[in-house]
Amino acid sequence: MSRHRNVRGYNYDEDFEDDDMYGQSVDDDYCISPATAKLYSCLDHMRTVLGETVPDSVLTQAAMRCGFDPHKALDAVLSEDTKTGKNKGSKTRKWLPGLPVDAPHNKVDSEVVPKVARMTVSGKKQTMGFDVPSSDQIPSSIYRSNADEPSTVPTPGRSSGKARQALNIKAELEKRQGGKPLLNLVVIGHVDAGKSTLMGHLLYLLGNVNKRTMHKYEQESKKAGKASFAYAWVLDETGEERDRGVTMDVGMTKFETNSKVVTLMDAPGHKDFIPNMITGAAQADVAVLVVDASRGEFEAGFEAGGQTREHALLVRSLGVTQLAVAVNKMDQVNWQQERFKDITSKLGHFLKQAGFKESDVFYIPTSGLSGENLVTRSSVSQLTSWYSGPSLLEQIDSFKAPQRSVDKPFRLCVSDVFKDQGSGFCVTGKIEAGYIQTGEKILAMPPNETCNVKGITLHDEALDWAAAGDHVSLTVTGMDIIKINVGCVFCDPKEPIRVCTRFRARILLFNIEVPITQGFPVLLHYHTVSEPATIRKLISVLHKSSGEVLKKKPKCLSKGMNAIVEIQTQRPVSLELYKDYKELGRFMLRYVGSTIAAGVVTEVKCT
Ligand code: GDP
Repeated sequence: MSRHRNVRGYNYDEDFEDDDMYGQSVDDDYCISPATAKLYSCLDHMRTVLGETVPDSVLTQAAMRCGFDPHKALDAVLSEDTKTGKNKGSKTRKWLPGLPVDAPHNKVDSEVVPKVARMTVSGKKQTMGFDVPSSDQIPSSIYRSNADEPSTVPTPGRSSGKARQALNIKAELEKRQGGKPLLNLVVIGHVDAGKSTLMGHLLYLLGNVNKRTMHKYEQESKKAGKASFAYAWVLDETGEERDRGVTMDVGMTKFETNSKVVTLMDAPGHKDFIPNMITGAAQADVAVLVVDASRGEFEAGFEAGGQTREHALLVRSLGVTQLAVAVNKMDQVNWQQERFKDITSKLGHFLKQAGFKESDVFYIPTSGLSGENLVTRSSVSQLTSWYSGPSLLEQIDSFKAPQRSVDKPFRLCVSDVFKDQGSGFCVTGKIEAGYIQTGEKILAMPPNETCNVKGITLHDEALDWAAAGDHVSLTVTGMDIIKINVGCVFCDPKEPIRVCTRFRARILLFNIEVPITQGFPVLLHYHTVSEPATIRKLISVLHKSSGEVLKKKPKCLSKGMNAIVEIQTQRPVSLELYKDYKELGRFMLRYVGSTIAAGVVTEVKCT
């Protein structure tokens, strides 16, 4: 079970005084000797030229023989290849680019290369967004002005690394996980609605948490005087989350239904952590909205100031169309049908206004605490007398699998960056489009630099490839970790993502109190990025459904309006047009702690 530490990346000083509390510190010093540093630098240089085609052991031996001089070491390796190449078919041939590496060499490698225990980056805190790179770092071709231009702008001076091996990605995806499609599910709802308990209990019933661990959580939560939180502790991993009894970060885990493999994201309900919730929701295909059926509690979560409405609006604006509503804590209201009906009719009305189709919203009465109607249909007579619909798991199983953009150029939005054992570093994130194989060269935007993919991990399993929809961890080499921030997009070097500080967008304004005027300051939430920005120009007001221009150059925008605006960000951000990549063309705007608008990118402007 892994937890995205993307919270570390946000620049919310007022919310997060001490970033390190969310996980591994990034402030520790390097614990690496000068000789090892020279070796790694030499190896990195060699890999930039050779990619991953030559075994580490060969590179290491050459580097050591040549006193860590990368040029000499490269010459040595290449002449070795030429020599062995002459002996075509001979048994003495050790390696050739593209051929699998013999296992014994790997063994030598681990004996020769000194292992570095948990390297972390010295004096660096990860911040969201990017520093403005100097003009020579980003070629002007990247600042493309319009969607109509071909999106195949090669990055000058970059080789594309190891040739991509032919892979029938669709067929491979079919084969993977027994043909079960992957579904990214986010759990949303007001704080204390019971999200963590519900999902923790569901995981326990599915056998994803063993009895011994569950017993441990029960004992520990009892000791801490929070016995009712035992199931929530399955998902709320950090000490502070347990102390405060709230989910702060987006927890991530995997479970299977009959027909799907589900990546579960438990989003924080507390309003202070909405930015994290946006990051989670931006990566979701479907959502489970949890509401508390207890008297007064549903109302508190649903009325102004509650998170039920805001979360539902957010997920819809971020592209989620299918929703299961768990009307939870039904045990608290004796499983009364009337209460269920009352809640579903109020919610139904609102969800329709928020843009959900009635046929895509499903209501399930549940009790996260007792486990009723989570995995199997309930046998509680008070419930079965009026409800014969699916359990929550059955509903999740019957969600339609999303269409993934596997045919488009590769895109991955970085949600975390960390140093692991060994050379290189790791990034995590969801692949939004295309696919990736180990050994490939990819481009990071910003800073517009390439690196090599050394390893791919999906749900703690090492893989040779991963595709759109997968939440992966990539081990990359040939680049300095300092250059990569949360919010960076890794992409296909031949078809890079756009980078800009100015773009046009169609926005839908939520229930805002202050009208929006030119120069209005906002926080742009775009995938894993949170970047200060301003509304630079108000272009036009549009008709909500027809899109027809109602007014040009309006002086201000007020609640509920649809408008075209121009947005200026402080630092460059990587984004795509909504019409090209739906997944990468959506964003949210926030202002002093409230979400004020949802938008889609319509035009990227030259800087
Ligand atoms: P979250 O903030 O939405 O993740 O809520 P939690 O899972 O932390 O639950 C908040 C409180 O509600 C805890 O004390 C839970 O034990 C309690 N709770 C959760 N689900 C139920 C339920 O179905 N019935 C009852 N009676 N209590 C519940």
